[in-house]
This record gives sequence, structure tokens and C-alpha cells, in this order.
Amino acid sequence: MTKERKLTCIVCPVGCGIKLTYDADRREILSVTGNQCKRGAAYAADEVFAPKRVLTTTVRVEDGFLPVVPVRTAQPIPKEKIWDALKELAALQIKAPVAYHQVICPDVAGTGVAVIAERPLPAETEEKAG
Ligand code: SF4
Repeated sequence: MTKERKLTCIVCPVGCGIKLTYDADRREILSVTGNQCKRGAAYAADEVFAPKRVLTTTVRVEDGFLPVVPVRTAQPIPKEKIWDALKELAALQIKAPVAYHQVICPDVAGTGVAVIAERPLPAETEEKAG
């Protein structure tokens, strides 16, 4: 069955309005218009057949200057894995200090994608001493 879908490309700030037609049964893209570059076509195809998102959340930190550190996936992960990833990260507690872009979890929810820290977080004692 041929279907149509309109979406906004979120790969870069231009935000092209993309229209695509696809065969839902054969999982095949038939046409893509409105994208200014190839990345938009790839994004549209992924969004229809295998949507992915970068996950951002926080992870608890023991002995940190703050009780949690903001983290994100290093690459987008499949949308259907986001809940599993959130549960896995909610159960984690890491020890301070935390470095910028330190790997917090090397393979979240079996996606093969790492979760990294989005800021450095010194230990509570380091912060008081400094
Ligand atoms: S199609 Fe290309 S130019 Fe347009 S928003 Fe996507 S990445 Fe940016």
C-alpha cells in the first residue's frame, strides 16, 4: 500500500519540510521531496521505517558536587529502546569525579551505543578544596 508522510528534518537547523511516499508493505521509499541534501532523505527513510532519537537524561553520582550528572547517548538509538535505556540508566550510580564525555555506559539497552557525560562533575571534596 502506498502511503504519504510529511515531516520536518531535524538533522540540521535548516529544518526542511520533507514529503515522502513509500510502500508500507515492501518497506520501500518511492519518492522524497523538499530535502536540500542527502542527509534529509536518509533521515526521512529512517523516520518512517526505523525511527531513532538521541536520549538525554541524568545519572546519579555518589560523592559528587551535584547528586546527578546530565548524560546523552553518543548516537541516536532506536525509539523502541528508549524506555529500556531509561530504566537501565535510572538503576545506575557512578562515582565522582566525572569527566566531560566520560563513557557512563558502553552499550545501553543492547543498542551498541554508549552513554556519555555531558559535563564534568568534580567530587564534593574537590569542589570544597578548590
Ligand atoms: S535536508 Fe539537509 S539541509 Fe535540510 S534540514 Fe535536513 S540536513 Fe538540513
